[in-house]
Amino acid sequence: MAKQKNVYFFGGGKAEGDAKMKEVLGGKGANLAEMTNLGIPVPPGFTISTGVCAAYYENKNKYPAGIKEEVEAGLKKLEQVMKKKLGDPADPLLVSVRSGAAVSMPGMMDTILNLGMNDQAVNGLAKKTGNPRFAWDAYRRFIQMYGDVVMGVDHDKFEEAISSIKKAKQVELDTQLTAADLEHLVTEYKKIVRQSTGKDFPQVPRDQLWGAINAVFGSWMNERAIKYRQLNDIRGLKGTAVNVQSMVFGNFGDDSGTGVCFSRDPSTGVNEFYGEYLMNAQGEDVVAGIRTPEKIATLAKRNPVIYKQLVGIKNKLEKHFRDMQDLEFTVQQGKLFLLQTRNGKRAGTAAVKCAVDMVAEGLIDKKTAIMRVTPGHLDQLLHPMIDPAAAKQAVSITKGLNASPGAASGKIVFSAKDAEAWQAKGEKVLLVRKDTSPEDIGGMVASEGILTSTGGMTSHAAVVARGMGTPCVAGAKGVLVQGDIVIVGGKTFREGDWLTIDGSTGDVYEGRLPLVTPNISKDMNTFLKWCDEVRAQTVRGRVKDFQVWTNADQPEDAKRAFEFGAQGVGLCRTEHMFFDKAKLIHFRAMIVADTEDERKKRLKEILPLQQKDFFGIFKAMEGRPVVIRLLDPPLHEFVPHTRPEVEELASYLGVSADSLQPKIDRLIEANPMLGHRGCRLAVTYPEIYDMQVEAIAHAAVECIKENIPVHPEIMIPIVVTARELKLLRPNAEKILEKVFGDAKVKVPVKIGTMIEVPRAAIRSAHIARYADFFSFGTNDLTQMTFAFSRDDVASFLPVYLEKGVLDVDPFKTIDEDGVGGLMRVGITMGRAVKPDLKIGICGEHGGDPATIDFCYRAGLSYVSCSPFRVPLARLAGAQAVINNSGKNVKGGETAKAGKPASAKVKGSKKPVRGEKKMAEGTVKKTAAKKPAAKKPAAKKTAAKKPAAKKTAAKKPAAKKTAAKKPAAKKTAAKKPAAKKTVKKTAL
Ligand code: ADP
Ligand code: MG
Ligand code: MG
Repeated sequence: MAKQKNVYFFGGGKAEGDAKMKEVLGGKGANLAEMTNLGIPVPPGFTISTGVCAAYYENKNKYPAGIKEEVEAGLKKLEQVMKKKLGDPADPLLVSVRSGAAVSMPGMMDTILNLGMNDQAVNGLAKKTGNPRFAWDAYRRFIQMYGDVVMGVDHDKFEEAISSIKKAKQVELDTQLTAADLEHLVTEYKKIVRQSTGKDFPQVPRDQLWGAINAVFGSWMNERAIKYRQLNDIRGLKGTAVNVQSMVFGNFGDDSGTGVCFSRDPSTGVNEFYGEYLMNAQGEDVVAGIRTPEKIATLAKRNPVIYKQLVGIKNKLEKHFRDMQDLEFTVQQGKLFLLQTRNGKRAGTAAVKCAVDMVAEGLIDKKTAIMRVTPGHLDQLLHPMIDPAAAKQAVSITKGLNASPGAASGKIVFSAKDAEAWQAKGEKVLLVRKDTSPEDIGGMVASEGILTSTGGMTSHAAVVARGMGTPCVAGAKGVLVQGDIVIVGGKTFREGDWLTIDGSTGDVYEGRLPLVTPNISKDMNTFLKWCDEVRAQTVRGRVKDFQVWTNADQPEDAKRAFEFGAQGVGLCRTEHMFFDKAKLIHFRAMIVADTEDERKKRLKEILPLQQKDFFGIFKAMEGRPVVIRLLDPPLHEFVPHTRPEVEELASYLGVSADSLQPKIDRLIEANPMLGHRGCRLAVTYPEIYDMQVEAIAHAAVECIKENIPVHPEIMIPIVVTARELKLLRPNAEKILEKVFGDAKVKVPVKIGTMIEVPRAAIRSAHIARYADFFSFGTNDLTQMTFAFSRDDVASFLPVYLEKGVLDVDPFKTIDEDGVGGLMRVGITMGRAVKPDLKIGICGEHGGDPATIDFCYRAGLSYVSCSPFRVPLARLAGAQAVINNSGKNVKGGETAKAGKPASAKVKGSKKPVRGEKKMAEGTVKKTAAKKPAAKKPAAKKTAAKKPAAKKTAAKKPAAKKTAAKKPAAKKTAAKKPAAKKTVKKTAL
């Protein structure tokens, strides 16, 4: 058996590893090797691989055989290169033992400096260097670090000891302590160790070394590191590597020092050397905040030679890695050493600026630039945020879901009405409620931000707030609204008190924190144009481009989204239009009407108002497609709830409130989301959709008359069977024909459907015959597939996530195995019938980067998201294209060679998501592998290979149906194959 190499040496101008070996050596180790190979001065050392860490945990904290020997050999080599020996009492080699995983986790794991120090070595070092102060400083630092990290001594005890000696000596800084003071401190420290652990501080350097190695491997699983990985979604790493490296000393005296710097400004991105350093200091002193570090620019004066050398190295490293570098350096007696380099973490502004600048400098190409900016970076740039200086000091009093990004401060109000009234008086208000409902819309618009105590990421408050770009923290359990007070994190607040929320983090703060609004730069526009280019060029089977549309209900939203680069409106919800005061009363009158005639009369009042809204949206979108969803929510939602509302309606109708009440009560449903809603309303009251279609048609005519290009698409919600469309589609067509005929204009209008009920996904081969396009309504599809009420998930979903029952909130990121599986069925079957069927997504998931990646792989034509997420989706879409390039992603249609297209996709699935090894994982593969059809049309479609066979559906009804009368043979609307099979199987 070939022996695995576990220890990699670097030093003397040569290294056994390099930058490409991050998985094995960790980021720190790999780059130390790379810098060594580049001829940059790096203290020599060796790296114990991440594989050892993995094996250590697999073997119940035991090392694989042969490690001791390999480390010993590494140490020998190091001693030779350094011409010093670990534990040599006359001239000791001192080392650091440093952690470092493949992905940087700054400060989360442990590092120990000055290892090898003991009672003899300290004297040897003092004599050898002629600098006893330095020797004792190194020793006391070592005891402090080793005692804390390896032996578990409370580090406050060491801090107390050093404070008391400084007090006694009447000095302020550590650097003012003399050799004798430090020697005394070492004695104190050793006492502390003995008292705390019952053991003496270890004097044998090899024992120290293994203690430190154990501790560093152990720190991989410390609570902090585990939490950090969770929060940052870091998975699939083997563990940390351990770097044993000879020490260099910034604490040698005033000709020595240590610092941290960036090759460009990490907050602005400006190409300016940026950083801080401290003279006579070691390790983390710079960031510890005890002494105030100096700006790197002052080093140019203090030590021009070192400064020039450092600038040369940072330039070289930036060129080499083609990215902004974050460097650690130490100067020992006028000699410069590099201790770390990595790609620097940066703020959103800097990410965009660096990316654009580096393309201009010829350092990177556009694709690399696109991969350098994260959706989170862009998100930062689109919303106000708490002034970073204030944010540092602010203490969050409670935390909810980060439902809509951005920060907001306002005076607390408890009702939408008050929000509107206060805002009218010029107040900034924060709407605090248990939850919100559609009738609160006015108050939500009037508010700076929204805070709710219940509801999940797709609760009404969250969805609407995101759509409006209003910051929102939802489902904050620590918020308790009790009449006219609210308890937030245990503190009581009243109406008019100030609160600040951060919708990007979910934090809630007391009082009014200062906010800053970043502005959208020229660089950002340039950058996003590149993203559009990449998406425009992609081809998946018959699907060209991968567009970003928006969900916009109001002309202002559409306009904003368009400015943000939306290529169409994928969802224009019309119900918000009804909640508008002028329309609501007519609509309420309509739903309590007794006769069709009366209903029609009421709807006529709404028609011109709705037409105006549509006209506004068409105009704002300048001829881009606008998908208008006909009325969707349950009638129930429009019902007047309070007595005054009932009275208002009664007086409008000229009847008594008492006679009206029973009619209203009749409309109450036990389970409205599964009740009388969507196209069901149109089946029972066709005149509602008729009115809406007429308004759309008139608005389109108006556009034509004003020479405004117009491209309406009509979308029918909550479809469960093709027969609903079969019934409703001709109604719409008739009205369009009539209005356009009268006006003598021609406007092609597509009529499509939402796929948002599991049954519709499974029956999409049939539905496709009556639909010109599909749009996945993944909010409802997720709700119905999981049977998780999206308004009530807050009570159990957090625990599901905590206990690992689910990896991610399925309302935020698509559940690829389940809901995504249904989508794949819908896409494959829909395109089997209509190979060029345009298919999009309009659920909240459409703005989520991981979901966008899935949508790309699944072959969607576009994603549609709320206006403020459009820039982010433009980027995420481009990243999906780049990430999946070379993976032969098809459009969900049947592949030419009879090989199912999407089967190839499976490799591209990131291992990190989904339900791990649950049996259900097969759903996705099955759906992909057995697409409905062999060749284009549906002739043999569902018949031969029922797509759903192994998927979610138990018994593919499709079999019988389409089998008998090949569905698409006579295709589209004309003669549905279903005719004869109707009795046997529902469409
Ligand atoms: P982290 O990952 O937390 O930054 P590091 O391993 O980089 O931990 O080390 C912490 C500090 O100690 C850094 O400032 C680093 O530069 C310094 N340091 C580490 N090894 C040495 C060494 N061999 N000589 C001098 N300083 C070192
Ligand atoms: Mg470091
Ligand atoms: Mg829906």
